[in-house]
Amino acid sequence: MRIVKLLLLLTLTAGCESDTVAQSQQGFGSGEGLPRNEIYHVTGDLYRFRDVRHFGMFLVTSEGIIIVDPTSEQAATWLKGELDERFDVPVRWVIYSHSHYDHASGGELFADTAKFIGHENMRARLAGPAADAPLPPRDALWDADNDGAISEAEAQGTALAGNFARADQNGDGRLSTREIWARQHVGIRQVPPDIYYSDQATITLGGKTVELHYTGRNHSDDMTVIRFPDERVIYTVDFLTPKRPPRTTLYGGYMPDWLDSLRQVEQLDFDILSPGHELPGTKADVIEQRQYMEDLIERVSAGIDQGLSKDEIVETVLMEDYDHLIEYDISRAGNVAGTYEILMSTR
Ligand SMILES: [Zn+2]
Repeated sequence: MRIVKLLLLLTLTAGCESDTVAQSQQGFGSGEGLPRNEIYHVTGDLYRFRDVRHFGMFLVTSEGIIIVDPTSEQAATWLKGELDERFDVPVRWVIYSHSHYDHASGGELFADTAKFIGHENMRARLAGPAADAPLPPRDALWDADNDGAISEAEAQGTALAGNFARADQNGDGRLSTREIWARQHVGIRQVPPDIYYSDQATITLGGKTVELHYTGRNHSDDMTVIRFPDERVIYTVDFLTPKRPPRTTLYGGYMPDWLDSLRQVEQLDFDILSPGHELPGTKADVIEQRQYMEDLIERVSAGIDQGLSKDEIVETVLMEDYDHLIEYDISRAGNVAGTYEILMSTR
């Protein structure tokens, strides 16, 4: 079974080099063999653009362009050149889906003509945690001696193990919450929003409308789902990738809030779902993702209630109904372990 899946993966990856749009928008693995930057037409005046494995969007109106996630300095530099060449209007808005630098960088290329908007929780996320901030719940599980920081020994076998000495800026042998945050942001520039919204916002420009929806905590606590009502398209960036399991362990995702967030997306009116990675999908993909998350939480919770250890739960919660999903093999154990840790940290 595993060999068949690997072969399928290789076939699809090789397909990236073919010239059909459907295949060329795939984005597996390291990004090797993928195009660096491309623009794909979605519908009407709405497009998505590629930065290797990342995708942002833009909507063209008679009075200007609305960009969602400029993504990186490199991609934004390239995109600005393309927009100047293809369209006769400036970029008037930059919408951020969330604060993570791999989607919310590169805005400086559009700062002279555009207003920037994002969810109000982005403000604190862009500033980073205070020096004495408590560890996030999941990282706190690694803090065996409960001193509010992660020592090198405690970091062994966790996401913090690599480059420990460099991340430990004050050289005290422990990583504080701020040092853990800073190790991801070396050399990164992010233009903050001019406007912060809380529950819902609407942008109108040149007779066209874009809606910003806050659906609660999921992959981050500052996530916006962007809806283009006339085009019947939504953009869900990292938090909902069609045909790929959610990565519940990334950035210490919020559960079970994530499930409620998926239920809210299911209620939105749209035909096409455009993600920040991989290919676009439909509402059927939202339903599948919601079912995956329900099953995952239910099965891991049942294991905890039975008194099983983390290893025992990882061995027995196989999520076999979802073995057709992209990266099922490599994400299954991590998702089960991550869900166990997150649920235990809130019990
Ligand atoms: Zn993210």
